Amino acid sequence: MKISHQATIIGTAIDITTRKETEKQLNDSRRELLALMNNIPGITFRCLYDEYWTMTFLSKAFSQVTGYWPEEVLWNKKISYQELIYSEDRDAVMESVASAVTKKEQYQIEYRIVCKSGEIRWVFEQGNAYIGKDHQIEFIEGIILDINDRKYAEEVQHVVGRIAGLSMEEVDFENHIYFEKVRELISTIMNAEHLSVLYYNNLAHDLKLLYSSDAIIKKDLDTVDAPEKTLTYKVISEQKSVFLTEEQIKNLDRKGKIIHYGKPAKQWIGIPMQLSGGNIGAVVLQSYSSENDYSEKELQALEIIAQHLVLAINRKDAVNALKERESYYRNLYMNLPESYHSMDEEGNLMVVNDKWLETLTYKWDEVLGRNFSEFLSRDMDFDFKEFLENFKRQGSVSDVQLKLQRKNKGIINVVYTGPVEYDQLGNFFKTHCVFTNVTQIKNAENTMRLAKEKAEENDKLKSAFLANMSHEIRSPMNAILGFADLLKDSSISNAKRERFTRLINERGNDLLRIIDDIIDISKLEAGSLKFFPETVRIYEFLENLEVSFKQEQARKKKEDISFVMDCGPELRDVSFSVDAVRLRQILMNLFSNALKFTDSGYVKLMVDKKANQVVFSVLDTGIGIPDDQKEMIFKRFHQVDMNFKSSRSGTSIGLAVSFNLARGMGGNLQVESTEGEGSTFTLSLPLKDMKKIRKSRKNSPKEETTRNQFSGEQNVLIVEDDYDSFLYLKNVIQPLNLNIQWAKNGDELFQTIREGFTPDLILMDIRLPGDINGLQLTQIIKKKFPAIIVIAQTAFAMQEDKKKARETGCDDFIAKPVSKKLLIVIVSKYLQNS
Ligand code: ADP
Repeated sequence: MKISHQATIIGTAIDITTRKETEKQLNDSRRELLALMNNIPGITFRCLYDEYWTMTFLSKAFSQVTGYWPEEVLWNKKISYQELIYSEDRDAVMESVASAVTKKEQYQIEYRIVCKSGEIRWVFEQGNAYIGKDHQIEFIEGIILDINDRKYAEEVQHVVGRIAGLSMEEVDFENHIYFEKVRELISTIMNAEHLSVLYYNNLAHDLKLLYSSDAIIKKDLDTVDAPEKTLTYKVISEQKSVFLTEEQIKNLDRKGKIIHYGKPAKQWIGIPMQLSGGNIGAVVLQSYSSENDYSEKELQALEIIAQHLVLAINRKDAVNALKERESYYRNLYMNLPESYHSMDEEGNLMVVNDKWLETLTYKWDEVLGRNFSEFLSRDMDFDFKEFLENFKRQGSVSDVQLKLQRKNKGIINVVYTGPVEYDQLGNFFKTHCVFTNVTQIKNAENTMRLAKEKAEENDKLKSAFLANMSHEIRSPMNAILGFADLLKDSSISNAKRERFTRLINERGNDLLRIIDDIIDISKLEAGSLKFFPETVRIYEFLENLEVSFKQEQARKKKEDISFVMDCGPELRDVSFSVDAVRLRQILMNLFSNALKFTDSGYVKLMVDKKANQVVFSVLDTGIGIPDDQKEMIFKRFHQVDMNFKSSRSGTSIGLAVSFNLARGMGGNLQVESTEGEGSTFTLSLPLKDMKKIRKSRKNSPKEETTRNQFSGEQNVLIVEDDYDSFLYLKNVIQPLNLNIQWAKNGDELFQTIREGFTPDLILMDIRLPGDINGLQLTQIIKKKFPAIIVIAQTAFAMQEDKKKARETGCDDFIAKPVSKKLLIVIVSKYLQNS
C-alpha cells in the first residue's frame, strides 16, 4: 500500500471583520468541540494518511482504551498507532482503509490492538478521508471504540455453541474424548491447561472425577478420604462460584479449612454445576503460571460453559437410563416363551422375538417394516385402526382375541395383551405386545362343544326314538293280545277265527321285524355283525323275493299299486357271492318303505350290472323326500319331519340298518328323490365270484304247488314243542297229501320212529325244552338214518343259526315265522327229489 508522505496542518481561515471577535469565536468553538469529543465514549482521532498512521489528534479516551497517553502517540512521539495494531491484523486493516478511501467511502473495521500492558483488545474503527482542494487525501478522521467485551462475549457464545453441538453427539465420559474437546474449545478464550470436571453424588456423598487434564488432581482425588475438605466440595456446598488466589488457598489450608494437596495454583476457579437446584458437581480451572489468567470475565464465561456441561451430563444420564431400561425390557421380552412384538404409533412392527417368528412361520427380514395389520386374518371383522387408537388411548390392551395368518398356510387364534410405553415427556413411545397361541385350546373347545351338542342331539333323538319305538311295539302287541283274547271265545265263527288268526300272524310278523331291526342295529353299533356270503342265483333269488314283495303288498293293502321287477339280461343266468339274508333284508326294507310312502302309481325293482357291481334300484312314485333330509334318513333315529308323513308309522331304523348292511358288504346305499314325485333307492354291491349258470331254472315259486301233489305215502314228522306252531305247520303242508306226525321233543321223536313211523322229512324245531336241542337231535338222526331229510326251523332267523344247522347235518333251513309258501316250496322240493 502506498501512503502519501505529505504533511498536513489543520487550519481554518475565517474571514472576520474584527480579529478579536474572530479569535474569541474560534476558541469557543474549539473548546466546545474538544469537550464534545472527550465526552463521547470511544476515541476520536485524526491522522495523516501515511505509513505510521501518524496521529495528529486523539481524544482523552485513548488512554483508557490503550493505556498510552495521547501525547505518547501523537506525531509518533514514542510509538506510532500503526505499531499498536496487533501484527496479525495490521495488513487487513491497511487494506480495508485503502480500499474505502480510494473510493471516497466511509470504512468500518474491527481489529485488535496491543495495549501498553501487553493485553490485546478488540476495537472498532469508523473513519472518513478528508480530501483537500488539490483532490489529495489530506487526513483521515473518525472514532475508535473498545469492543473487547462484546467480542469476548461473542467468542464465549461461539464456544458454548460448539460445546452444545458436541453434547448432542454421543457423549462418552469414560474415554475423556468429550472433555478433551471441551477443554480445547475453552482454551480458545482462556487458559484451560488445567481443567477438571467433578461429579457429585448427593446420596452417596461421593465425589467422582469425571475428567481432569491435571495429573496432580487425578492422583490426589483417588486418595481423598474426606471430600468435604476439598476446594471442590467448597464450591458444591456453597452453591456458588469460588475464585481464589494462591495466597487465599494457602490461608485456607493454614486455617485447616481445606486440605490441599500438592503445589497450590496461582489462580483457582471453581464453578458449581447445578441441575434443578441440586448440585451435581463442579468445573475447576487452575493456573499455575500467572496471577492474571482469570478475571471476572473468565469466571462469568466459565459459569455459562458449566451450565452446558450440566445439560450434557444430564442428557447422558437420561440416555443411559433409557438404554438400560431398553435393554432390560428388550432382554425380558426377547426371551419370553410367548410371542412378542413392539409397534410404533402407526402399528408398524419395530421388534419381534424368535417365538413370534416361529409361531407365524416368518423370517425377520420378511417382517421388518411391515404393519401388524398385514398379519391379521382376513376372515376377521376387525378395525385395526380403531383398535390401535384405543390401545394408545387406554395405555394397554388385555385378552383381545385375534386371528392371525401364518406364512405357511393356516390361521391361528391368539389372545393378545400388552402395555404402551411412554417417553419422559409422557408422549407415546411404542407398544409392547405379547400373544399366546390358543388355537389348540380353541379347537379342543370346539370339538368338545360339538361333541356336547351331538350328545345332546343324540339324547333327544334317542328319547324320541324310544317313544316312537314303544308306540311301534305296543300297537302290534295290543292287536295280538286283543285278537288272542277274542279267540278264546269258542262261540265265534270260523271265518272270524281265521281272520283273527291271520291278523295275529301279521301283527306278530310286524313285531318280529322290529325286533330284528333292533338286534341288527345293536350289533351294528357293537361292530359284531357278521356276514355269511353264499352263492346266490340272481334270478332265483328275485323270484323268491317277488313272492315276498307280493305278500308284503297284500299285507299293506297296496295291491292297486303296480309292482314291476326287471332284471338286466346280463344278470339273468348268473350267480354271485353275497349274504342272501342281508340282501333280502335290505331290499325288503326298501320295498316296504316304497309301498308305505306311495299311495298311487307303481313301485319298481330294477337289477343291473354296472362295471363290476350289481345295482338294485327300488323306484317309487310316492311322496318323495325333501332335499335337506336326504342325508339324515340313513342315520339312526332320524325320520323325515313327522307332520309331513304323520299317517305313516315306522321305527326310523330300517334305512340306518340297510345303509350299514350295504356298507358292511362292501357296497353302498343312496337315494335320489323329488318331493311329490317319488324316490329311487339304489343299492350297489360288488359282483363277487360271478358265474354263468348252465342249468335251466326250476323251482320257481310261480310253478304253484298244487293240492295233492304227493301220493300220500310220504311221511313228515314235525318236531315242535308248541302245539299251535305244530298245528300251523301241519295245516300248511297238509294239502300236499302227506302223512304228518307230531313229536314234542327228542324222546317222542325216537318213540315215533320206534313205533314204525319212518319220516322221509323232519321239520325240526331248534329250540326244544329239556337237555337236548334240535341240532343235537339232527346229529343223532343223521348218523342213524342219513336218508331222512331234516329241515331246521327256528325263530330269529340268524345266519349263524343257519350255518350251524347246516354243519350239524340239516339239509335246509326255514326261518320262523315260517312263510306258508316258502314251507311248501321247500318241503315239495326235498320230497320230490327224495
Ligand atoms: P321308518 O320306519 O320310519 O320308515 P326308515 O329308516 O326305513 O324308517 O326310513 C326313514 C325315513 O325315511 C322314513 O321315516 C321316511 O321319512 C323316509 N323314507 C324312507 N323311504 C322312503 C320313500 N320310499 N319315500 C319317501 N320317504 C321315505
